Amino acid sequence: MKTIIEPFRIKAVEPIRMTTRQERKALIRAAEYNLFALAARDVMIDLLTDSGTGAMSSAQWAAVMRGDESYAGSPSFSRFEAAVKALMPFRHVIPTHQGRAAEAILFSIFGGPGQVIPNNTHFDTTRGNIEASGARAVDLVIEEGKDPASEHPFKGNMDIGKLRAFLEEHGEAVPCVMLTITNNAGGGQPASLENIRATAELAREFGKPFFIDGCRFAENAWFIKTREPGQEARAIPEIVRDCFAVADGMTMSAKKDAFGNIGGWLALNDDALAEVARGHLIRTEGFPTYGGMAGRDLEALAQGLAEIVDEDYLRYRIRTNAYIVERLEALGIPVVRPAGGHAVFVDARRWLSHIDPLHYPGQALAVALYEIGGIRACEIGSVMFGRQPDGSEKPAAMELVRLAMPRRTYTQSHADYIVECFEELADLAPRLRGYRITREPPLMRHFTCAFAPLED
Ligand SMILES: *Cc1c(COP(=O)(O)O)cnc(C)c1O
Repeated sequence: MKTIIEPFRIKAVEPIRMTTRQERKALIRAAEYNLFALAARDVMIDLLTDSGTGAMSSAQWAAVMRGDESYAGSPSFSRFEAAVKALMPFRHVIPTHQGRAAEAILFSIFGGPGQVIPNNTHFDTTRGNIEASGARAVDLVIEEGKDPASEHPFKGNMDIGKLRAFLEEHGEAVPCVMLTITNNAGGGQPASLENIRATAELAREFGKPFFIDGCRFAENAWFIKTREPGQEARAIPEIVRDCFAVADGMTMSAKKDAFGNIGGWLALNDDALAEVARGHLIRTEGFPTYGGMAGRDLEALAQGLAEIVDEDYLRYRIRTNAYIVERLEALGIPVVRPAGGHAVFVDARRWLSHIDPLHYPGQALAVALYEIGGIRACEIGSVMFGRQPDGSEKPAAMELVRLAMPRRTYTQSHADYIVECFEELADLAPRLRGYRITREPPLMRHFTCAFAPLED
């Protein structure tokens, strides 16, 4: 059959409140054109993030009831730990409330002034935690990974040549090497198993611990299975284990590929480091058998990890984005190719080339998409990255709009509706105008800054 159906049926529903274009125009103006300032009830299709917004299965909700809230030694922790270790065979699994808490613990150990930490592309919270420790975060993704039009199958790959030169140059100042799978900040693009192994080998050659930011490990494994020669006949859990077998540890946001609404973990092999990390955990998150989570969360994640590696799910998941990308391309809309694992990225710089990057074409597109269809997307461009540490402003590498797909949440007709909104947007695009920022905080401005539309 050609049609890939949603591999689930719906047991509980959450109504969407319908709004009119007129209402939405007033709502986004009242929000000073920042989509983060909108009330969720005023959004019809919320593609702001795929983080913690997915639908749990009936088996996960059943597991929630089994959650044991004992302060120490909860059986829910044992089930969670076993589920993690079944896929990621690390000696120590340290539960945190989100991925960024795992990062904060990791970089309290590895960060610090004078240190430099390479990654394919650091996610913003990773970068934030590294920089907060006084260290520097450096991105070494392959060149193809920065070109929205490149068809490279693994645009999240680490540039091995650059990493070698980096390790030779910085030597002692590099406390660890990281790799993010999939590369969220680079468009949800995967890294190949070969590249993961090559990165690990290079880290080992220089005596550096190798950590994987594994937030979307299952989507990455699906790309390996379907794109990497020799991997097509292998089971997803096997591929996942191969990816993590070469690492010394990992950070994880369970709000992504563990089907959780909250949660995360830090895992590692080194006993001494694990002891330091647990000390930090007890101080900032909680006792090591629950960390930042309730027993019921641990249960939901244990079940979620079993479900996320299901091939029917992954086939449907990846296909949804590929479908939207194909339809947008057919409309002549520039998108990041190939489709990413968790999101569709529209290239606003190319599409709205009449808007100067520092008048935020991505923001203009995101606002128009909301006004037209009640869709909430996220600018990933000069609003997010344009402000420099010295206070000046510089265009970001790309001006993208991200449509992040919550897991198992929207259906095919929602996908068709999204495409229809873009169809309408295509007529308006040449007339869209840019924005200026009227108010902004000193850090991470995209969450709370205010905009005003530029006049003709
Ligand atoms: C979401 C994310 C994080 C941070 O996780 P939170 O649970 O949001 O704190 C880190 N790295 C990547 C790649 C992510 O996508």
